[in-house]
Amino acid sequence: MRQLLSGTTASRGMALGRARLVQPNRYQVDTRPLGEDEVDNELARLHRALDAARQELRELRGKLHGALAREVNEFIDAHSLLLDDAELLRGLDDMVRIGHYRAGAALKKQRDRLAAVFEAMDDPYLRSRKEDIDQVISRVVSALQRQTSAEERKLAARVGEILVADTIAPADMAHLAGHGLLGVIASSGSPYSHSAILARSLDLPMLVGTRDALSTIHDDDLILLDAERGETVVHPTAQDLSRYRAWQRESAQEGRRLASLANAPTRTRDGVGIRLLANAESTADVATARARGADGVGLYRTEFLFLRHKGLPSEDEQFIAYRDLVMGMGGMPVTIRTLDLGADKADAAGLVLRGEDNPALGVRGVRLSLRYPAVFTTQIRAILRAACYGPVRVLVPMVTQPDELIAVRTLFKLARQDLKRENVDLPEKLPLGAMIEVPAAAINVRALLEHADFLAIGTNDLAQYVLAADRGNDALENIYNPLQPALLRLIAHVISAGRRADKPVSLCGEIGGDVKFTALLLALGLCEFSMHPSQLLHVRDRLAMLDHAELRRYAPRLIRARTHEDAEALLAAISETMQG
Ligand code: PEP
Ligand code: MG
Repeated sequence: MRQLLSGTTASRGMALGRARLVQPNRYQVDTRPLGEDEVDNELARLHRALDAARQELRELRGKLHGALAREVNEFIDAHSLLLDDAELLRGLDDMVRIGHYRAGAALKKQRDRLAAVFEAMDDPYLRSRKEDIDQVISRVVSALQRQTSAEERKLAARVGEILVADTIAPADMAHLAGHGLLGVIASSGSPYSHSAILARSLDLPMLVGTRDALSTIHDDDLILLDAERGETVVHPTAQDLSRYRAWQRESAQEGRRLASLANAPTRTRDGVGIRLLANAESTADVATARARGADGVGLYRTEFLFLRHKGLPSEDEQFIAYRDLVMGMGGMPVTIRTLDLGADKADAAGLVLRGEDNPALGVRGVRLSLRYPAVFTTQIRAILRAACYGPVRVLVPMVTQPDELIAVRTLFKLARQDLKRENVDLPEKLPLGAMIEVPAAAINVRALLEHADFLAIGTNDLAQYVLAADRGNDALENIYNPLQPALLRLIAHVISAGRRADKPVSLCGEIGGDVKFTALLLALGLCEFSMHPSQLLHVRDRLAMLDHAELRRYAPRLIRARTHEDAEALLAAISETMQG
């Protein structure tokens, strides 16, 4: 019987497929004891599953790059270690060999035993490791189940699967997307989570907050995920299916129309030119950015070079990466952000200070770079050398006050003098900009503008620091909202201060590439948007529908909004007038 569940759209689109439920704590195990002659077979099955889980983790690590990799590698490492834990493995083997448990039952037993040990610990960190045990063992259990249900796999491959889970980790999403996953329905989570951001960049429809999903949907149910309307149809009718087919036809047409915009100029309906920049890290990003007509790279995060390495990347290694980026953009400006380690971005080289009580408010970004001038100078020299191959700008993350910019400039000056003595070619000028992601920097932006050649607003962090709300924490969904008036006022303030000082201001947080916010940012006066390359055509298309002059008239009302709900209502009314 047809059932309708509502949720919040985290990534638009539709998908028709069979449900695959992920309930990490649910082990449907066969508790019948093994016969003596089945033991060897069962041990082999268990070890195949363990190998498959190890292989999955290795593949995950190999597939992830850049910002994504730095977030998930640490947990992949922890899980890989657990999978090789001698005690865990011996315990499992003994249960099968001596206790005649089937593999699934042995895994469940080990999970329960270890969970009890961890739960009894006083240390909250060690206690929280219970989650890792759960996740690792579920991975092995899934691998085991996949061995037994070849028939199911065949079907799933034909129809495709839609994942139904409480939440999904970004690493798993990246992995499953590469294996034909069609969409995700999460019973909790927020549209601002890392997984939601990833779903958008993978073009994977996703709903969050579908509260009853896990209790209503069953494995193998045919479901229509409609992230255009924010709902899931369980057992869709012929009418639902024809709506889905109509959407498929329209979106194919839309895809062709968008592709034709690749070489079009970026202009609003009333002809105002807007610069579209890309947040690019990999060579694939650079290629997409160029193919879609980006005006340059607005944010190149350099952390991945440091996170990929066991030690520190050398000057030459960095130089080659930066030079390839500059040359890849074929003469268009490239904005290289200096190292932004710290907080959640831990490193392999041991630069990040350990044991900080509050790392998000600790020594991260430029604060960390200035603490290690020799390491920072290596990066600065590499950037200076790469800047001879095309126009480069340097962006400094987590700036709080002018003396940080002054110190960075001094280090650049000293590095220039050294390179000159070494007869190395140097660029004539190298604009230095500040990221605006700390509230103090936004409020006191005029003081920074005396020392910065340009600004880039990092709304991901700015929102989290202004609202004192971690964007990954779904319990704060109602607070972490980009339409919060305090945030809108700060963004407007920074943009207008930049304009008065005649210095460019771009915005490179997630909202820069989200068409829901394009009208808002235009109204606040933004002329440079930087985004994931997959969003470039969508934003160009949206800009062409918007009237810049008319939107600018709404700015005072938008920044006077009392609540994010008010701002949202106003924005909806504005877009209706524009379409009318
Ligand atoms: C931001 O904070 O908005 C930003 C673009 O930087 P990152 O996401 O790398 O912290
Ligand atoms: Mg940031």
